[in-house]
Amino acid sequence: MQRQSSYAKDEGKLYLVPTPIGNLEDITIRAKKVLQQADYIAAEDTRTSGILLEKIGVHNRMLSFHKYNSKERAPELIKLMQDGAVIAEISDAGMPVISDPGYILVQECIKHDIPVVPLPGPSAFATALIASGFDAQPFTYYGFLPRKKTEQVPYFAEMNKAHATSIFYEAPHRLSKTLQNLASVLPADRPIVAARELTKIHEEFVRGTVQEVAEYFAENAPRGEFVILVSPSTEEPEQLSWKELIKLVDAQVAAGSSKKDAVKNVAKEHRVSKNELYDKYHEQ
Ligand code: SAM
Repeated sequence: MQRQSSYAKDEGKLYLVPTPIGNLEDITIRAKKVLQQADYIAAEDTRTSGILLEKIGVHNRMLSFHKYNSKERAPELIKLMQDGAVIAEISDAGMPVISDPGYILVQECIKHDIPVVPLPGPSAFATALIASGFDAQPFTYYGFLPRKKTEQVPYFAEMNKAHATSIFYEAPHRLSKTLQNLASVLPADRPIVAARELTKIHEEFVRGTVQEVAEYFAENAPRGEFVILVSPSTEEPEQLSWKELIKLVDAQVAAGSSKKDAVKNVAKEHRVSKNELYDKYHEQ
């Protein structure tokens, strides 16, 4: 077990700092302060971040830290923090670590007992989710999917069955093909949303059935950045026995959930009474 206090000391720590996903006004006062006061800013692309930092009036030293150099760079950054440096990590846009570099550095900091301090802020998937009109609890975030149809299909089959909103990112030049692949797996009338250019002037939500949205983007070339959301399945889940449901609760408890949460999750997913499942769980 490890307990790590974010504010017990002022030096030798890693701040994870979200940056705007389009609208520069979405930088927080705290994010600006942390970027200004850090000893170094570790940036995915120092040129892109240089432009952002200039616009928001932050002048500070930058180090490059991206997916191609993260393994070699992480030990250097760890050494700097062990010597007392405060490092603020940013990606090109949105939250570091979310489909962006940063994970390795976070793991290394935890390993070396260096505090990791996350700042809240913009992320494209959460921004899309809250306006999608789909239930936000539970949701599954997939990041970028594999590119080949054969590799995408198992993910789409999982989304088809899921009683959670599914969210993924896709590049504009691959969007139409990916939506066709999605439409080949889901029932034609399954609602989806394509959230485009969030927080920017051309922000748009294309809501419809998977067939309608796939056809729309086959005829209208996708432009800009996209988040795709698939509504939860309304199919009745497979009817499991109480014994099988209790096994699922046990599995969630073994994975770290509280009994109460595990019962709640399993009951919601399998559409059974939470109280009844709770009683059966304690009767065994
Ligand atoms: N770290 C970022 C975050 O927190 O969302 C994600 C970075 S990932 C490399 C970039 C992808 O995020 C884009 O290809 C797009 O799918 C999605 N994205 C980023 N900004 C967006 C925006 N303004 N509108 C819609 N999607 C966006």
